Amino acid sequence: MSFTSLGLSGSLLKVLTDQKFTKPYPIQDQAIPAVLNGKDVLGIAKTGSGKTASYVLPILDKLQKNSSTKNRHVNVLVLVPTRELAVQVKDVFQQFGSSLPERIKTLAVYGGVSINPQMQALNHVNVLVATPGRLLDLVESNAVHLSEIKTLVLDEADKMLSMGFKDEIDRIFKLIPKRRQNLLFSATLSEDIDAINQLILKEPVLIKIEAEKDSIELIKQVGYWVSEEKKGPLLRYLIKNGDLKQV
Ligand code: AMP
Repeated sequence: MSFTSLGLSGSLLKVLTDQKFTKPYPIQDQAIPAVLNGKDVLGIAKTGSGKTASYVLPILDKLQKNSSTKNRHVNVLVLVPTRELAVQVKDVFQQFGSSLPERIKTLAVYGGVSINPQMQALNHVNVLVATPGRLLDLVESNAVHLSEIKTLVLDEADKMLSMGFKDEIDRIFKLIPKRRQNLLFSATLSEDIDAINQLILKEPVLIKIEAEKDSIELIKQVGYWVSEEKKGPLLRYLIKNGDLKQV
């Protein structure tokens, strides 16, 4: 299977060729046509499966045809658990979106940094990638409005729940329009993830990508119980004495 048979437009196919993406990964084979057809998707897949491009590409394709320009109203909301993932996902939107004919603006917002620059940057943004707490802060400050959301993506949903974002996510669900497309990605299908599935997904296309080898088997885990003030010295000792190159 090649990208040409998945229904993506010519301009995106050209970007894919430029980026040397020659063959879709299995999750992309299944997710891209489903998202283009407006279906909800439940993707059970780990990082490394190509899950990010599996939703970024069809979302960009749809935004090329239909993106609203109302200021401070975003079209696509991607919820993620961490700042690192927020930046990564924003980078993938820009990697594929920056040379398309229709300009698509993507912004990543997350906590732990000053809110003011993010408030100012929220001008004419189409795709907002956000951690749940910071998003609610921005909504409360009227820096962004969620009433024009057409597509909601929950990426690494299991991690968002394990990090305690359940209440924030529930509050966000209440703020966005009922008629929308929902894409839910999680490394595992737990009871909690199934509860979100039941709550928001409508007849989703289920895509399950088995990991080739569970990464846990490749990692030797060791724990050291030390007091707070000894953490730094112990880490320095371990790095030096273990001759560790990647930490
Ligand atoms: P992800 O699981 O989304 O974090 O993607 C894992 C890595 O695979 C990223 O570095 C992507 O750039 C890369 N990737 C995703 N899809 C493809 C593809 N079809 N061809 C080549 N590389 C890809």
